[in-house]
Amino acid sequence: MAVVPVYRMITLPDSNIYLQTDLYKNMTGRSPIEGEKVTIIISKKETARKDLGSESFYPIGVSGRIIEISDQGYVLVHLSTRVNLDEIYFYPDNTIELTVSRREEINDLDEQEAMAKLAAIKHELSSFSKGFEWGEALRNYIQSWNTIGDIGAGMSPWMSESNEERYALLAEDSKKLRFEKLEAMIYQNLELLRVRLKAQSVQHQNNQKLYHEQAIRKQISYLQKELDELHPEELDDIRKLELKIENAGMNETALKEARKLMNRLKAEGTDGHESGLIMDYLEFASSLPWKKEPLKEIDLSEAEAILDADHFGLEKVKRRILEQIAVMRLKKKQSGSILLFVGAPGTGKTSIGQSIAKALGREYVRVSLGGIHDEADIRGHRRTYIGAMPGRIMDGIHKAGVSNPVMVLDEVDKLSASFNGDPASALLEALDPEQNFSFTDHYMNVPFDLSDVLFICTANTIDTIPEPLFNRMEMIRFQGYTPIEKKEIAIQHLLPKALESAGLGKEDLTLENGVIEQIIDEYTREAGVRGLKKRIDTLCRSAAIQLVKGTTSPIEVKKEQLREYLDMSPIHQKLVKDSAEPGVVTGLAWTEVGGDVLYIETMKTNGSGKLTITGQLGDVMKESAQIAISLVKSMYPEQATQLEHQDLHIHVPDGATPKDGPSAGITLTTALASLVSGISVSPAIAMTGEVSLQGNVNPIGGLPEKLMAAQRSGVQKVFIPADNVDDLNDVAEEVKDQLTIIPVHTVSEVLHNLSLE
Ligand code: ADP
Repeated sequence: MAVVPVYRMITLPDSNIYLQTDLYKNMTGRSPIEGEKVTIIISKKETARKDLGSESFYPIGVSGRIIEISDQGYVLVHLSTRVNLDEIYFYPDNTIELTVSRREEINDLDEQEAMAKLAAIKHELSSFSKGFEWGEALRNYIQSWNTIGDIGAGMSPWMSESNEERYALLAEDSKKLRFEKLEAMIYQNLELLRVRLKAQSVQHQNNQKLYHEQAIRKQISYLQKELDELHPEELDDIRKLELKIENAGMNETALKEARKLMNRLKAEGTDGHESGLIMDYLEFASSLPWKKEPLKEIDLSEAEAILDADHFGLEKVKRRILEQIAVMRLKKKQSGSILLFVGAPGTGKTSIGQSIAKALGREYVRVSLGGIHDEADIRGHRRTYIGAMPGRIMDGIHKAGVSNPVMVLDEVDKLSASFNGDPASALLEALDPEQNFSFTDHYMNVPFDLSDVLFICTANTIDTIPEPLFNRMEMIRFQGYTPIEKKEIAIQHLLPKALESAGLGKEDLTLENGVIEQIIDEYTREAGVRGLKKRIDTLCRSAAIQLVKGTTSPIEVKKEQLREYLDMSPIHQKLVKDSAEPGVVTGLAWTEVGGDVLYIETMKTNGSGKLTITGQLGDVMKESAQIAISLVKSMYPEQATQLEHQDLHIHVPDGATPKDGPSAGITLTTALASLVSGISVSPAIAMTGEVSLQGNVNPIGGLPEKLMAAQRSGVQKVFIPADNVDDLNDVAEEVKDQLTIIPVHTVSEVLHNLSLE
């Protein structure tokens, strides 16, 4: 009897196995002879021949006979009986001898059923082999298998089971159980092969390390997926998160970071003290829109129609926006210049941002920057901080859920620097097309591409926007609305929306003629329409209450009922005074909420030439006052000597933005001229302009807002710097119609016109 030790083979009774002739010779010390009895014994480990001992083998082997010796180097052995190895002898020539006894089996197998199952397995294997180049030969081989043991032996090279698992089949006494175990093994391995093949089919010829890694990951994920599909209820949180990360489309750096943290999470488990933080991060990172949105074709006339439908007027603004859209279309880009919308509250800056998104067919997201003074608000906290969070930009992107939203950054003028870093420079990094393709939020710690985001900033004033940020943006001014424009906005937009949100139909409410005008004139005082919107909302809600209480529709609102419907007293309108007195002149100021009229008051008392300035203080105002005094002294030499025995008091009301200070120059000078000459100037005459020591009137900013305020307050005549004449193109006709506008080059022209000279 020849004894042949094997390792990791499937050797079962009632099967044919091939042994290498060389191995046979090596183990037995002689050439194979047909018909010779052979016992296969199974070594526990892969052990060198010389190190084998009786402990090296499992206690059960299998015996059979050689039925064929091929001339291709194989011996075909038919195995028939399981045996217990009773004694093992080792000889110095490396041969082994045994004494064995037959090991009985439990004959519980239903042969018929087994044959059917066998046929099914062979069928499955055959059809699987069709995909292979050498499928034909393989199929013939498969057809030659007659027993489950044959299939086990034939499939053995492709099976993933360990040596121990393979031996366990042999050691199984029940034929039925052995069959079932092997059947399950074969199907499992077949699936594994399929999966492996799927993953391999995408493999390249020249696959380098990276490619190799990808293939392995794919295999793992395929296997994991198959498992997950088998037991969807067992998908735990970590696993779900992992799947989400792998499918998020992250860039290489981000994926690396996420995988690193995922590994840490797996190692620590969900109870680890950092696991909450890690999971929050991974949740956030994996739900960011990493995948690029495709470029949409934009129909310019459709975009225009959308902008027109949502907003009344704002012609210049809309034109500028359409230009931007056209440029983006030509350049095939998702973003263009960073737009900066500047204007008083309620002038439509934010809401037109929303319309732009609609016109472009993109998502809209609004991020408020007001009051931010910490860099981390923009760029996030480092994750080492407890309670660390991403910054507002990444948070906005997260909310938007797409890589190319229209992002409105509200109130850039309200950013301020502090000891916690400069938020403006962080913002610049996010906005700047030169750098924002790899914007790195501290919390994220990996770059994110913001280059497809269309940024729009809004501000009430440009005075407080840091220079470098301002220089990067293209400013579009929102000048505020005239009463006629406000009325149209109310009728076309605010009222229909208010009715809808109060649950009223169009027919439920009728307004007496002049009601809207009265709301505008007596219940609001603003450049925009925010207050107007609120009043109209209140009106509709009050009407809704009436309806609910039983008043029959339609509800009619008369002018005299407004006070009751709005539940407020009319706002005291700042109309110019009736009476004039020397030394007091009407000026025009520009404030964050639009234009305004103000009175500059001057007074002289007996004294010693002292100067007192109250109200709006600051160097600019002091300088303007000094220039005005010098000019007046030179123009009125007689009165100038008297001034040496008098104290002067100048009061400039507070409120205008500091940068607008110099534009009070002409008003200050005129007020002093009026004071010293004793001739009063009508309060219905207003002026704005910076004054030089030579008495020239220099240009100022915010003219449209100032003229609108003048008209609103009942001013009739306005002096403006001649160099500002071009700005009149931006002023509504109805405003110009109601004002006499006189451009001037010098202070003398003003004084002359007012008969002060
Ligand atoms: P801002 O951002 O300038 O403070 P909003 O965009 O919030 O102003 O506008 C306030 C409200 O007024 C919004 O409901 C907006 O729809 C409405 N509104 C402003 N301007 C217009 C306009 N030209 N046409 C229609 N509605 C407008």
